Amino acid sequence: MQAMANRSCIIRLSRYKNALNRLRTLNFVRVFSDNLADAAGVTAAQVRKDFSLFGITGNRRGGYRVDELAEQLNKILGKDQLHEFIVIGVGNIGRALLHYPGFERSGINIAAGFDIDPAKFNRDSKPPVLPLDQLAGVIKSRDIKLAILAVPDYAAQQVLELVLSAGIRGVLNFAPICLKAPAGCVINNINLETELENLIYFVNAANGGN
Ligand code: NAD
Repeated sequence: MQAMANRSCIIRLSRYKNALNRLRTLNFVRVFSDNLADAAGVTAAQVRKDFSLFGITGNRRGGYRVDELAEQLNKILGKDQLHEFIVIGVGNIGRALLHYPGFERSGINIAAGFDIDPAKFNRDSKPPVLPLDQLAGVIKSRDIKLAILAVPDYAAQQVLELVLSAGIRGVLNFAPICLKAPAGCVINNINLETELENLIYFVNAANGGN
């Protein structure tokens, strides 16, 4: 059975995986925890601690085979399978996500977008943009468990309830309200404004305060 890690640990695993992919394209065969630590901005001890949580061990000097390690991390991060998402709210953010070509090579497929505005509907686009009343049918027929919410804040809670009742189990929420996850579901909230405020604060602090 896979170990339960916290969110920060999984973010670090993604960074190690991205660093490994770069090393793979450069034909590296072995990598050391020091190299991965540099790429992820952590210590080598942290890298080894993260790996040990998942039973990943290197040799005595902390070395790992790049291909084996990449395969193990891909499996932990679910990247050995294709994952289908739906996007609800096809405005500025939703539209950009719907047409982002980089998801495909990460094993992520956006099956469809949904909106309430008929001007956004397009059955023939790839992915299609459909009315909300088709959401439950699409989720059921394709057994989709993951959704991205890119609707205005006032609509987010209602849309969350709709997608959960249709069978969605994981939500990435861009609306600037903190949606709470009911039992059995995972909700990751991305508040861009909070992130920017955080950045501004630390830039100011690093430059002697304001
Ligand atoms: P937008 O207004 O461009 O698009 C929102 C879309 O949601 C519209 O197409 C609208 O028709 C649709 N919608 C509204 N109610 C709906 C409902 N009940 N069901 C389905 N669709 C519905 O908004 P945006 O700029 O894409 O932003 C999306 C979310 O991200 C918002 O909550 C916004 O506050 C947040 N956000 C956006 C940005 C940004 O840079 N665009 C930055 C920070 C936060």
